[in-house]
Amino acid sequence: MSSISTIPIISSAWAERQQHRKQSAVPELWEMLDAVNDPEVPALSLWDLGVLCDLQKDESGKVTVWITPTYSGCPAIGTMQDDIEAELVKAGFSDYEVKTQLAPAWTTDWLSPEGRRKLREYGIAPPKQSGCGNALGLTPESGIECPHCGSDDTALLSEFGSTACKALFKCQDCHEPFDYFKQI
Ligand SMILES: [Zn+2]
Repeated sequence: MSSISTIPIISSAWAERQQHRKQSAVPELWEMLDAVNDPEVPALSLWDLGVLCDLQKDESGKVTVWITPTYSGCPAIGTMQDDIEAELVKAGFSDYEVKTQLAPAWTTDWLSPEGRRKLREYGIAPPKQSGCGNALGLTPESGIECPHCGSDDTALLSEFGSTACKALFKCQDCHEPFDYFKQI
């Protein structure tokens, strides 16, 4: 491995997720479920979003998948469950279970770096990473980068955007409104 200073800063929570997936005995199942996307932001897979937590296949061939909703009461969780089941059926599995796991609670630190990039491309400002705002003495609502033009001269319009986990911002430079994926 090269020097650690050349590695881009990524959250340790994400690194742990990636490590866990790498050690899985069934990498083909993880790859298969990469096809299941977030119903709210279809550009993102459930893996990118950090909702897909774990999966296992036991000796009898039964597949168990664990998902954690982005926040409790997230209305999309039923759709996510159905989409995962549909993908398993398509691959020929008949014995499976999709379990919802609420603890530990989902955090925006579970988003993959790829997921953050895809959010921006989709026109949604990705959440800040833990500690960044605090270190700079910023409130969570300041310094949010416009996903359209990259300007950080942006203003909060509403605590609630298109969904409860997003806030509505407006860019003062390009004047475009955009959703910010709130950091939790
Ligand atoms: Zn802008």
